[in-house]
Amino acid sequence: MKLYTKIAIGFLLGAAFGVGSNMLDLGWGLAVVDFVSPFGSGWIRLIRMIVVPLVVASLIVGAASLGDLRTLGRVGGKTVAFYILTTSVAVSIGLVLSNVMRPGRGLDSTAQAALTAEFGGDAAGRVALAQEAPGIVDVILNMIPDNPIGAAANGDMLPLILFSILFGVAASLIKDETRRKTVVGFFEGVNDISMTMIHWVMLLAPYAVFALIASVTAQFGWNILQSLLFYTGTVILGLALHALVTYGFILKFLARVNPVVFFKKIREVQILGFSTSSSSATLPVSMRTAEEGLGVSKRISSFVLPLGATVNMDGTALYQGVAVMFIAQVFGIDLSIGQQLTVVLTATLASVGAAGVPGAGIITLTLVLIQAGVPETGIALILGVDRILDMIRTAVNLTGDLTATVFVARTEGEELRADVTGREPSTGSVAATA
Ligand code: ASP
Repeated sequence: MKLYTKIAIGFLLGAAFGVGSNMLDLGWGLAVVDFVSPFGSGWIRLIRMIVVPLVVASLIVGAASLGDLRTLGRVGGKTVAFYILTTSVAVSIGLVLSNVMRPGRGLDSTAQAALTAEFGGDAAGRVALAQEAPGIVDVILNMIPDNPIGAAANGDMLPLILFSILFGVAASLIKDETRRKTVVGFFEGVNDISMTMIHWVMLLAPYAVFALIASVTAQFGWNILQSLLFYTGTVILGLALHALVTYGFILKFLARVNPVVFFKKIREVQILGFSTSSSSATLPVSMRTAEEGLGVSKRISSFVLPLGATVNMDGTALYQGVAVMFIAQVFGIDLSIGQQLTVVLTATLASVGAAGVPGAGIITLTLVLIQAGVPETGIALILGVDRILDMIRTAVNLTGDLTATVFVARTEGEELRADVTGREPSTGSVAATA
């Protein structure tokens, strides 16, 4: 049986187990969940354990093979432009849908009061967390590591990415061939070892997915979902549109690959993004999928994906667009077109600022709300369904990262795997320019 099929079975069984014990209120549901959930969290730790060595090694090898700073600048420029453009499209889809569907009108005052009573305290905690966020100058300064080992130890991805790229480019400039090959060869070895370890960890994925899905669904508030059906429906519709239409268009017409084959190849990444709600925990798997499944070269995937897992969150931005409109509508605030355009900008930035971990999006959402003049305590209304939306938006975030990788690789002249492009590769190799 293929690994994907096993993961899918784990997923379905986990959902059935969790939803069943929640809805039937069997009493033992939560106790069993307490027992299974450590398997899920333990597995996420196993996979996160590989993030730093993999990202550092593959970025150094990738940057060393890019050869010169000009190529790096071109690839970097394309990637950042792609990320900003698609994220703004995502927020705009969220805003247009909320204007058309007006999800906030459906929430009656009893439900509003109940939600505020239940989640008000938790909401205040998240607002306080957002207020601790550093200002823009500090954000930029923090991208420069004062100690790369410290950045690695804390899992601070952006400074680590910057250091590894500079290290790789500098390594490629060493004149003495033996020394250059020793250093780069060492990191090639670290990269291969990390890939082997991911392979092992992935063998446990079906069980981990069972545990993760069972514990989330068993604790989920289904009655809350009912009162927020319009809101969740609008977010999910927007996410589906963005994934299928925006990415489908880019894949077919700009990257010239077969979108159906692409989506098939990345479903493992999507299901893990959904189960873990974390782009950064899923990063090793998306890197493996890009290289082995899609045939993108290491020099592109090692750069575009770690950056994407940290800054590119289209799903999060779209959700923030809908959430701002929803809360404004519930409070009877009409946001003008100008204010909504500001939301496009602030939600794009807020999604960049959100870390690739569970629940990061709702914390930076408070910044968007404050900017738009909507009461930030309104997040109490949507906290009850945030977990489920987090799962879906994370899957979309990862889809966006992989779409960008394929787009950049194609514009850099890569052939990718023949089944992805629907053509025979001229060189017969997996990644012609790797
Ligand atoms: N969980 C999301 C991610 O890791 C971020 C968020 O929207 O909360 O991509």
